[in-house]
Amino acid sequence: MKNFARKCVKDLEAYKVEAPQYDIILNANENPWDFPEALKKELCDEIMKAPLNRYPEACFPELLAELSDYTGVPEDQIICGSGSDELIAMINQSFMNPGDTAVTHTPSFAMYQIWTAIADGQFVGVPDKNGHIPDVEGIISAAKVNDAKLIYLCNPNNPTGYLFPRYDIVQILEETNALVILDEAYMEFKGSTHVDLIENYPNLLVLRTLSKAFGMAGIRCGYCLGNKALIDVMYKVKSPYNLNVLTQKAAVIALKNREKLLDRLKTLNAERHKMYKALRDMPLDSLYPTASNFIYFETGKGEAIYEAMKENGILIKFFKGNETMPASIRLSIGTPEENRKVLEILKKVL
Ligand SMILES: *Cc1c(COP(=O)(O)O)cnc(C)c1O
Repeated sequence: MKNFARKCVKDLEAYKVEAPQYDIILNANENPWDFPEALKKELCDEIMKAPLNRYPEACFPELLAELSDYTGVPEDQIICGSGSDELIAMINQSFMNPGDTAVTHTPSFAMYQIWTAIADGQFVGVPDKNGHIPDVEGIISAAKVNDAKLIYLCNPNNPTGYLFPRYDIVQILEETNALVILDEAYMEFKGSTHVDLIENYPNLLVLRTLSKAFGMAGIRCGYCLGNKALIDVMYKVKSPYNLNVLTQKAAVIALKNREKLLDRLKTLNAERHKMYKALRDMPLDSLYPTASNFIYFETGKGEAIYEAMKENGILIKFFKGNETMPASIRLSIGTPEENRKVLEILKKVL
């Protein structure tokens, strides 16, 4: 049969994730607590009032107003997507010509490479230096050699938890001709953002999401901040009604109640601290500091740990490793009770 698929799509694997059937899910860096019931009720009331036969707001004015209030960035410098995943796709549609290069540090978030492939671009991953410190000079020189169109910086990085110092980000912005995408999906956990740099750097886009700290992965709402000229280009490729009514209403309620929602991070951060301290006393090959709601460590017993967790109804993320990367685990922080169980199993296996 004729293969109708585009050449750059043909060999990709579909991103089909099975809904995990586990008691404890710690593999996707989600917030362990659901949207509070009172807010869910408020959302239901809003949905009851909304005419679902009508298209949603195409440019989500109410949501932009809330996001502007939260971020301090003017509304015309913000665009929303169905998760930041869709925004990464839109960035590719807006800025990548076939054959253009995107550069990132590795390991990092898999979607950068996948959307580059779908855009028929070249992907260059620059391996971290020892201790999973991103190779800033290497990133800059890879960008120069390949005349890169995009550079992705994940900050804090998924999966290593690394937080770039500001001067590294500034150096990359100043020494390359690329458009830099700073992915701040986990920003709220440490509270460290560099979004103010968009004022001075017309080659910077900042990505954020409600999926992690806000605990709304099911709602699919991400947003992108940048110079107005860049955001205007992205509006040209945005599909007209990309955020449905439910998403828009839920996101507005979440942002209006952000103090309450983000207050939960105190518990989560304390738990992470506790987990990190406990892991430090275990015989791991390496354990990395983290600015996020997950902990990354390397161990030859990775697979055994993964299997033992599975037997106990716990799902975690296991990276098999390859020539350049030893086997490793990324463990999302759960509720205190969940974390206690995880530590028990870890102690047994190690
Ligand atoms: C989870 C995550 C996102 C968020 O994706 P959404 O599509 O907004 O749910 C973005 N970037 C990184 C690095 C992530 O880990």
